[in-house]
Amino acid sequence: MKNPIKIVIAGPRGRMGREAVKLVDHTAEFQLVGVVDRKQDDQVLSEIASLVRDSVHIYTNMEECFQKENPDVLIDLTTPETGYIHTKTALTYGVRPVVGTTGFTKEQLEELKGLAEEKEIGCIIAPNFAIGAILMMKFSQQAAKYFANVEIIEMHHDQKLDAPSGTAVKTAEMIAENRRKQSQGHPDEKEIIQGARGADYDGMHIHSVRLPGLVAHQQVLFGSEGQTLTIRHDSYNRASFMSGVKLSVETVMSLSTLVYGLEHILE
Ligand code: NAP
Repeated sequence: MKNPIKIVIAGPRGRMGREAVKLVDHTAEFQLVGVVDRKQDDQVLSEIASLVRDSVHIYTNMEECFQKENPDVLIDLTTPETGYIHTKTALTYGVRPVVGTTGFTKEQLEELKGLAEEKEIGCIIAPNFAIGAILMMKFSQQAAKYFANVEIIEMHHDQKLDAPSGTAVKTAEMIAENRRKQSQGHPDEKEIIQGARGADYDGMHIHSVRLPGLVAHQQVLFGSEGQTLTIRHDSYNRASFMSGVKLSVETVMSLSTLVYGLEHILE
């Protein structure tokens, strides 16, 4: 039997992190060798202990964790600022990052790509690990060939820090590859309340909804003369993201560059 892939998870008490801890702990080919949290008190210890079958060390310092545990992969599910630093640290230590944290800038992604290539190791950054969401993006990209008028409405829980969502930005980027560039709506349109028409990406509009009760949802609305087309995906819980995390951990082991977006590793 092959050696299990040794994994460290950053953000283990978070909503995504908890699911990732369960996934790794229950996958025979994976081994959870440590978690990185920003605190390490009795409450954190008992919260983590309730999630894993065997005891696992909690680190507050990522470098110390890498030096002691020598992991193959870091799964990061934290915040944009922290996730960026974690990813950079992992690449520097030759640990392959699988990053679900959203909100990285283009410049940060470029820099991390350069670092992955310099180190010749894989790195996967996926704004959305749900397979259905990837299909929604791909179908939207296809539809954009025939519908140049499009509005993206993304809806998330009210604790989300970044807007628009990484998925919405990624969808807009993919649509832009196929869509005839144009501005939308009436040329003289005026916003009575600032922001009413949402964010503008290449003339397309992106609207962000934040409400308690929601998890992660997006609809892409296309319109042309006499018809509309709606492509919608809903994640009802965080378990919906875990098949994508598993696939990414398996795939990152054989990459030697940074891949941004799960769509590039799906058959
Ligand atoms: P969350 O519940 O707020 O969890 C974030 C966790 O990160 C918290 O436990 C937080 O600790 C911890 N954290 C913050 N700074 C840290 C540090 N310096 N070191 C270690 N841990 C730190 O958020 P979530 O809903 O799980 O989302 C996490 C990230 O994943 C977000 O960026 C979100 O947008 C993204 N996300 C991605 C996908 C996807 O499919 N790719 C899906 C859903 C969400 P405290 O509790 O102490 O603050």
